[in-house]
Amino acid sequence: MTDAVALGWSADLGGATVRLLRAGRFRTDAGALFGPVPRVLWEPLVRDELDELDRVWVAANCLLVEIGGRRVLVESGLGDLEPATAARIGFEGSPVEAALAELGVRPAEIDLVVLSHLHADHAGGIVAADGELRFPSAPIVVQATELVVALRRNPRLAAAYDQPRLRALRSRLEAAAVDGEIELVPGLSVVPTGGHSGGHQVVVVRGRDATLCFAGDLAPRPWAANPRWITTYDDFPLTSVARKVELFRRAAEEGWLVVCSHEPEAPVGRLVRDGDRFRYEGLDRPS
Ligand SMILES: [Zn+2]
Repeated sequence: MTDAVALGWSADLGGATVRLLRAGRFRTDAGALFGPVPRVLWEPLVRDELDELDRVWVAANCLLVEIGGRRVLVESGLGDLEPATAARIGFEGSPVEAALAELGVRPAEIDLVVLSHLHADHAGGIVAADGELRFPSAPIVVQATELVVALRRNPRLAAAYDQPRLRALRSRLEAAAVDGEIELVPGLSVVPTGGHSGGHQVVVVRGRDATLCFAGDLAPRPWAANPRWITTYDDFPLTSVARKVELFRRAAEEGWLVVCSHEPEAPVGRLVRDGDRFRYEGLDRPS
């Protein structure tokens, strides 16, 4: 498995090029990731990757989208971690700019950053260890609701966010925040879903020949294709289930490419209807 690279998968959607990047990977408790699903059902799916603490891999997948003459980074990974934090979560790899560098793209050449939500494993990479913004020319687009929820200090919700960092960036994030479904660049839209977090959004890229959806943490790994299989980290679980049904139905009917936010092996695939749920069919990894 490759840890911190441009993963080699790219697609020309027709007027839009999408490249898959990885900003490292880390470990999380398998039971927490499978939420309400009993172990007897999930263990066979991940037996090979469980470590001695019963943790599975969580890859920090990101996209570089080139569309309309602009470079758009979708997600930023965890960023620079304290060594103790990196050790605790078994982090391997590098922040996202290592993958960008492999493609010859400097952080200053990113025109726009879009985050599915502000949890630390998606938004941590927008600031460097010295507090400087990593992508100085780029507005950072989240849903306005996400910022409100993140900063509300609700004891159930607040721990998933890096509060000091968000507060330091507050005015910059507010300036670029959007409200609702918006086409940020012709062909590239954000669609609010909520569910996983209060203002979670997905990113849809429509080219002449194909459509791709970065589904964020509504589809962290392939088993999330079942709308009822949601993580313990979903703050508004019933909303997650409802939005997944709507989004996945559309993705299946229209044959969208779907990117899983945290899948290490086959993060790009398609959703296929399977009774009252869906099945995720991953594309083969390029060798
Ligand atoms: Zn996540």
